[in-house]
Amino acid sequence: MKVPRTMRTFCPKCKTHTEFTVSIYKAGKRKGAKKGERRQARRKKGYGGQKFPEQKNQAKVTKKQALTLKCTECNYGLMRKGMRLKKLEIV
Ligand SMILES: [Zn+2]
Repeated sequence: MKVPRTMRTFCPKCKTHTEFTVSIYKAGKRKGAKKGERRQARRKKGYGGQKFPEQKNQAKVTKKQALTLKCTECNYGLMRKGMRLKKLEIV
């Protein structure tokens, strides 16, 4: 699916329709110092390994992708509902 680089939609902060820049959502980098990461490291330490099953074969062939929008006037950020697509590109 092709998505335009900018779109006009309602901004809750400006309370009117404004121009938004569109980008594809990407998950943030995992930080080793976070609580969950420390807990997982503690679980994996010593004798006996993984505490929950690793997913080996995926049932789905597509990835859920979401769009992030940013208001050009007030920098307010919005996210659009994730959709399952093989390919999502911004034109
Ligand atoms: Zn705005």
